[in-house]
Amino acid sequence: MGQKIAVMGAMPEEIEPIIAKLENLKVTEYAANKYYEGSYRGKSLVVAYSKIGKVFATLTATLMIERFGCKQLLFSGVAGAISDQLKVGDLIIADGLCQHDLDITAFGHPYGYVPEGEVCIPTDKKLRELAKRVAKEKGLILKEGIIATGDQFVANAERKAWIGETFNADALEMEGAAVAVVCSALNVPFFILRAISDAADMDAGFDFDTFLESSAKTSADFILSMVEEMGK
Ligand code: SAH
Repeated sequence: MGQKIAVMGAMPEEIEPIIAKLENLKVTEYAANKYYEGSYRGKSLVVAYSKIGKVFATLTATLMIERFGCKQLLFSGVAGAISDQLKVGDLIIADGLCQHDLDITAFGHPYGYVPEGEVCIPTDKKLRELAKRVAKEKGLILKEGIIATGDQFVANAERKAWIGETFNADALEMEGAAVAVVCSALNVPFFILRAISDAADMDAGFDFDTFLESSAKTSADFILSMVEEMGK
């Protein structure tokens, strides 16, 4: 059935539409979480939600690779928009990911940088190209840009503008860059997809609650279409 593909989200809503499609489902409890192994259209998947934030995302991404043997990782979820070109429900793939809350600027370093790290970690080009092909076939619009990650739910126009300017970012969320650090260190090709749930402004909390489920489903459906096309 080929190499195992990790499909990861942060919250249950983000992976439920994918788990619902798995055949031969096997659930393993490990490290205070559940890992769902199964097949979809002839591909072996390991699916899990990490819980919110960079630390949980790091743990889950690492385990999917090191314990469950995944050779590629696809992340599906929702994000706050920075770019005013992005509206609720729009899909964005990350070219690269940075940590907007990583700050040792007191030592003269740029925001998001620590020694031996990178401000912006690029995602796998082949997976991005596959996503663009799938979008084209389905007649869907897929934006591409920098996604900024931090351990904060941003619901503040000033903070959002600062993140946009400092990192040239188009969207923000709380897990992507953690997954990027893990996958790049372990040489595992990875892909981060997000559907917009809010605009990271003063209405973000309300919008998030309203649109989480629908945007999470939009993202998950796209990931399933990609999985179908993988390895073809
Ligand atoms: N309502 C949830 C908390 C959601 S935190 C609860 O009470 O349990 C927001 C989640 O969606 C994170 O996983 C993050 O990756 C993403 N996200 C969506 N909009 C965001 C925003 N404006 N700021 C930060 N993360 C956002």
